[in-house]
Amino acid sequence: MRVYKFGGASVKDAEGVKNLASVLKETGYENTLVVVSAMGKTTNAMEVVIKNYFENKGELQSSIHDVIKYHNEILLDLFDNEHHKVFSVVKALFDELNLFFKSNKSPDYNYVYDQTIGFGELISTTIISHYLNEIGLKNNWLDVREYIKTDNYYRRANVNWDETQDNISSKFNKSVLNITQGFLGSDSNNFTTTLGREGSDYTAAIFAYCLNANSVTIWKDVPGVLNADPRHFENAQLLHHISYREAIELAFYGASVIHPKTLQPLQQKEIPLHVKSFINPKAEGTCVSKGKTIEPEVPCFIVKKNQILISLSSLDFSYIVEENISEIFSLLHLYKMKVDVIQNSAISFSVCIDNIYNNRDKLLQHLKAKFNVTCHDDVSLYTIRHYNEDAIKTLEKDKNVLLKQLTRETVQIVTK
Ligand code: ADP
Ligand code: ASP
Ligand code: MG
Repeated sequence: MRVYKFGGASVKDAEGVKNLASVLKETGYENTLVVVSAMGKTTNAMEVVIKNYFENKGELQSSIHDVIKYHNEILLDLFDNEHHKVFSVVKALFDELNLFFKSNKSPDYNYVYDQTIGFGELISTTIISHYLNEIGLKNNWLDVREYIKTDNYYRRANVNWDETQDNISSKFNKSVLNITQGFLGSDSNNFTTTLGREGSDYTAAIFAYCLNANSVTIWKDVPGVLNADPRHFENAQLLHHISYREAIELAFYGASVIHPKTLQPLQQKEIPLHVKSFINPKAEGTCVSKGKTIEPEVPCFIVKKNQILISLSSLDFSYIVEENISEIFSLLHLYKMKVDVIQNSAISFSVCIDNIYNNRDKLLQHLKAKFNVTCHDDVSLYTIRHYNEDAIKTLEKDKNVLLKQLTRETVQIVTK
């Protein structure tokens, strides 16, 4: 049994869907579960729809129409016959989305987000499943919400492993080609939940864990895990084989090629993770596995842009110790701020954070009541694993360094 995951970039148009089919034909599709994300940038487009629902109702229908139009073009490219059943199945999904907006009474943004954002995945898997059936790759479309159960922490739900394992053990048919959605789950009331943005890699790992799969392959638009994101660094090199630990560290620091939650379930059952190019499926790619732990021989560079650096000092020159640090952390937790680096001295405390939920202003207001606060918006956080002097020098060149922190294996540098 093996699990494949295709992300948005791999199925951004009809060519991408056809390519997915070729990858399956080339690499085999017996006993395979294929997890698929929303097509292209659909999730971002759905975020606009949801924002319009709350803040700009006048634009709601036109933003939904953009999503419909995008998928219709893909459908028309894939299916010659406009009376093919897939058109009505996709239409029914859009009708369901509209009906939700019409009837919803909940003012809870996160709840509404999770009830609607996943239409991207429901539609992409519907189109792909019908297309594969059409060309002879017979498959079974699964609603992932009947398998992955979570709590109701909308937008970043936590998996209920026992229930998920029970569902998968009792209902999943291993002997056919299955297609399902990444990113989604459902809570105990059967409301849809999501696992966090970019969470489809994690979905693949959840299934692999519960199915005791032999391997997981995530198909990407890069040759594998590189020592840097080629969008931001030149001459990135392929890492052929890395340990789970190295991959967990890279993902944690922001190497977005693997969702950070993906590795832990795989590591627990020692299921190898392959990261491969969907453009060149026969190429070796990267293997993350147990065995000879191979440290990358080159420094690995990671950048997170649009971070916020907040520096605090006490109003009365008192020390920043356990008491105030725990207070600062409870505020960061309250406002769902993701902390990337912290640094403290006797009377000051700096924290670099990812403002995912746009709670910056509320947090600052709260902090200003207790501390002197300086805030740098839009800073970049660079991390180098296995750094050397040259790597640091190259990185710092022409940049204004606001914070720097070195440990044995890793250096983190915040720049403006
Ligand atoms: P998906 O289509 O599965 O969502 P992502 O866009 O999330 O794929 O991940 C692939 C992207 O990750 C690449 O296009 C690349 O720009 C980026 N990336 C970031 N860090 C790395 C890295 N260390 N190695 C390879 N790619 C990386
Ligand atoms: N479609 C979701 C997102 O864009 C999940 C994923 O792609 O992994 O965040
Ligand atoms: Mg992605």
